[in-house]
Amino acid sequence: MEMQSKIDFLIDRVKKQNPQANVKKIRAAYDCGAAAHEGQQRRNGEPYIIHPVAVAEIIVEMGLDTDSICAGLLHDCIEDTGFGYKEIENKFGTSVAELVDGVTRLGMLRYSKEQEQMEDLRKMFMAMAKDIRVILIKLADRLHNARTFKYLPERKQRDKALETMEIYAPIAHRLGMQRIKWELEDLSLKCLDPIGYKEIVEGLNAQSAQHGEFLDGIKETIGTKLDEAHIQNVISARVKHIYSIYRKMYAQHKTINEIYDICAVRVIVDTVADCYNVLGYIHDLYKPIPGRFKDYISTPKPNGYQSLHTTVIGRAGIPFEVQIRTAEMHKMAEYGVAAHWKYKQGLDKQGSEEAFAWIRQLLEAQQDTEAEDFIKNIKVDLFADEVFVFTPRGDVVNLPAGAIPIDLAYAIHSAVGNRMTGCKINNRIAPIDTPLKNGDIVEIMTSKETHGPSRNWVKIVRTTEARNKIKQWFKKECREENIVQGKEELDRELRVNLLYSGFYENGDIQKDVLDKFSFQSLEEMYASLGYGGITVTKVVNKVKDDVMRLRRKNDEKEAQPVIRKQGKSQSGVIVEGIENCMVKFARCCTPIPGDDIIGFITRGYGVSIHRRDCVNVHNNGTPEDKARWISCWWDEDLVAMAPTKEKFSTGLQISAKNRIGLIADVATLFSAARINVHELSARDMADGFAVVNAMIDVSDVTQLENIMSRLRGTKGVVDVARAVDGN
Ligand code: MN
Repeated sequence: MEMQSKIDFLIDRVKKQNPQANVKKIRAAYDCGAAAHEGQQRRNGEPYIIHPVAVAEIIVEMGLDTDSICAGLLHDCIEDTGFGYKEIENKFGTSVAELVDGVTRLGMLRYSKEQEQMEDLRKMFMAMAKDIRVILIKLADRLHNARTFKYLPERKQRDKALETMEIYAPIAHRLGMQRIKWELEDLSLKCLDPIGYKEIVEGLNAQSAQHGEFLDGIKETIGTKLDEAHIQNVISARVKHIYSIYRKMYAQHKTINEIYDICAVRVIVDTVADCYNVLGYIHDLYKPIPGRFKDYISTPKPNGYQSLHTTVIGRAGIPFEVQIRTAEMHKMAEYGVAAHWKYKQGLDKQGSEEAFAWIRQLLEAQQDTEAEDFIKNIKVDLFADEVFVFTPRGDVVNLPAGAIPIDLAYAIHSAVGNRMTGCKINNRIAPIDTPLKNGDIVEIMTSKETHGPSRNWVKIVRTTEARNKIKQWFKKECREENIVQGKEELDRELRVNLLYSGFYENGDIQKDVLDKFSFQSLEEMYASLGYGGITVTKVVNKVKDDVMRLRRKNDEKEAQPVIRKQGKSQSGVIVEGIENCMVKFARCCTPIPGDDIIGFITRGYGVSIHRRDCVNVHNNGTPEDKARWISCWWDEDLVAMAPTKEKFSTGLQISAKNRIGLIADVATLFSAARINVHELSARDMADGFAVVNAMIDVSDVTQLENIMSRLRGTKGVVDVARAVDGN
């Protein structure tokens, strides 16, 4: 009787959520499940069917389809009762039967406690499920089991909790399902360290009045500000989940009373533009902690999570984290892949049966690049970075994704690789560079007659193991040939770079290059180039360095002996007359390559580099201080050779008419120009103006001027200037 009302309640909820759901089918699945589990009991003495119904409830909460709900109700049938695959298929169709079968098979995967195995297990788990729904149902199953861990015998509790912590919670994380991940972690922790868990719960209870008051105050302040700005908002405040506090305490060796950063505030708004606006307002209300701002909207986490994060200082110096995102992003954060799955159903009523077909469909149906990126990331995660293939004998071989049959051959044995002539994939002859897929059965064909591997294999194999073994073979087998080939390759590259005569006409340069790579002779270097022990690019770059240095020396001799620029500095700045000088860039004017610069010899820390037009250069007090200024130059090598590699931080100040979306437009410009932003904040000024301060990474003045002129073109912007701090 009581069960009947439970299933009625579940069906009501399904109807409300999705009027198109097939509730008749769900009820039939319940009836079947109840009949199949008739007479069985759970460890706590309850009728068994309570468990599948609870699992189905979690599946409904995730927003999955009718077939997944049915599979949830039937998920323990195949293993525990006489009601098998055929019966389920006849009654509920292939899709439900496949789901139940998939969940059952995942249940058979045995967890082992060896650390190195853990990642393989997670990946195997993902790879084994052919349909994403199987994983989601299995997660729901585990979540309900975790909620009832306490009925298990103690040892089993620990094993299951450990398995949940090591396998299931990370998978929930990868699929972006924060809510389930948190609950799994907290429930497992409760079993694994009951004392630690209790300590945190009690600590939090003791502080709950203060936390409540603190968070209410913040909600009030932010809410009022946003209402005034007419930004639709929903603010929630919470204390972080227990396991995350536990981890912090453990990592930082602190007690609960010493952990401050445990309060978090979430602001949910309508649009992406509002997210950035809210960020501006919050940085206006509270002082942000530098380096803690993270823009996961323009750069989502690999699991698709999107949000702006910042940590700010509240009353009494207590920091708290603020997360800002749209309602859509929030749903993704809570339910991850399941939220996407649900969205897909809106587009296409038919649940897909084929492996990952829905991912491809979504990819094709969506023109939106953001969604596309997300799916790509998920896909990478699902297929993992590894691939599992079988030898004809049934051994599983684990290779990195993208591996080809040659990799497999060398993974089996170098002799197999060296004698490889071809391969069969799933019993069909296939090219030896075919990327392998999960579950492929791969047979390597070999012959003793072969002349060994081909040189070009080095370039197409995926594993370092295969590459090294192939190189090894060439090293041993054909030194003469390697020398000829290596010399040919090097000479060609040297000519292309106009370094040929520079190299062969100067014994010093030759010796320097050989020394650098520890070769005894040119021949030895050629041989190494021939079998791929060292790359031509490496050698040519070194030659280029040497030749350039020599030319510069000669130029300097000829030029007037002005001032000797000395020393090479990793910072990219040469200080007059001082070699290997410690250098820092002044925070007041944040110079970047291309700026006219000057150095100040500090008392404690080397030379501080300023722009020549910095106020601090002009207002310099005592005559003694004046003597401390020293000439500096940008190291042209660094600036010319790697203009995009080295990044320099510099500040910008943008004055604009205040408007909704201002910060968002600025942030978008930066991200479109692939410029990294450390700090972005806005201050309201009088008369409806605002000043936006940004701290960004650029390679030089050209790039900076480029972005500044684009900023000037932004709606409402009246001035863009390099930030100069007068202090
Ligand atoms: Mn179960």
